[in-house]
Amino acid sequence: MSYDYLLGKGRLTVNLNGVKENYERLSRLSVTSECAPVLKADAYGLGLEPVARTLSEAGASTFFVALPEEGIQLRKILPSARIFILHGFMSGEAEGMARKNLVPVINSVAQAYEWLTFCKITSKYCPAALQIDTGMSRFGLSEDDLKHDWLRELPLCLVMSHLACADTPEHPANKEQLACFERLTGYFPSVPRSLSASSGIFLGKEFHFDLVRPGAALYGIAPQKDMVNPLAQVVSLEVPVWQVRDVRQGDSVGYGYCWQAPHDMRIATVGIGYADGFFRSLSGRGTLWFKGTELPVLGRVSMDSVSVDVSNPDSGTLKPGDYVTVLGSAQSVDDLAQKAGTIGYEVLTALGRRYSRYYQNG
Ligand SMILES: *Cc1c(COP(=O)(O)O)cnc(C)c1O
Repeated sequence: MSYDYLLGKGRLTVNLNGVKENYERLSRLSVTSECAPVLKADAYGLGLEPVARTLSEAGASTFFVALPEEGIQLRKILPSARIFILHGFMSGEAEGMARKNLVPVINSVAQAYEWLTFCKITSKYCPAALQIDTGMSRFGLSEDDLKHDWLRELPLCLVMSHLACADTPEHPANKEQLACFERLTGYFPSVPRSLSASSGIFLGKEFHFDLVRPGAALYGIAPQKDMVNPLAQVVSLEVPVWQVRDVRQGDSVGYGYCWQAPHDMRIATVGIGYADGFFRSLSGRGTLWFKGTELPVLGRVSMDSVSVDVSNPDSGTLKPGDYVTVLGSAQSVDDLAQKAGTIGYEVLTALGRRYSRYYQNG
């Protein structure tokens, strides 16, 4: 391992073997479907290139990103992959999309019409996916929209929809969306179908169809609320202790003087703040870890630093230059998210750009 010890930065380690292991587990679970990773937002903040290469080596050949720009980046890394663009294209961009060999997910009647017109004018019937809204009211064509006969002329390689409540298996919306999807895909009888992202894969076989689209689960986020997470954690994050200080009873710590020491104690100022994705909502609530000892956050999280309690005798040897753990075996991405009042997705995609990044088994 080679870290930039001199720079006072945190070190973010991505275990690519864990990503591969998670991909293999999800593939086994959805064995009759193609498993097509979602790599939007820089592979959920983990780094597009190393993650894409790892998944390609693990056997993936179809990928999803959100934006055309992300597709262009991915195309440079994986020249022969099939790349779907979840947001489709803006008016006037159909040609560029086709030229770059990107497959748009068509989300509206207007997009569908523009794609078909482009296909007819150029006599190039480039494949597209069609999204159907089965309840989320976010993207995709409604049941009424599907009655346009000309939609059947589209060169579709996939019809898809997205589940809104799949992390809650008992939620009635899951079965309703499934039934709606079965019914509406009847308009396109021979086109391959896709309904599930990570959480949907864990709802059972009837949700798998021909292709599944996992993102979060590849990166270790728990797919369902009350389930023991079967996936490997792939991110660990350690940050340097910048100072260790003794404070007296009644001394205040941090912005707003929001926290006062109830007794004499020892605190550490640590190099991670909200600019690094350590959310300000962790003020007074988060914890860091040092060799199995919990270090509670004291007062407000600053932009570049946070103060933690190191009075516990077990953390007594802590000194400037030591590293404390933000994410690791003691604290998963979901654990930290819960303390911050958010979800693991937001923790990962907010990971800062200031860390030294290290890819294991890459
Ligand atoms: C982001 C996204 C996914 C991946 O979702 P995860 O919950 O991260 O597995 C799949 N499909 C669509 C349409 C998405 O927007």
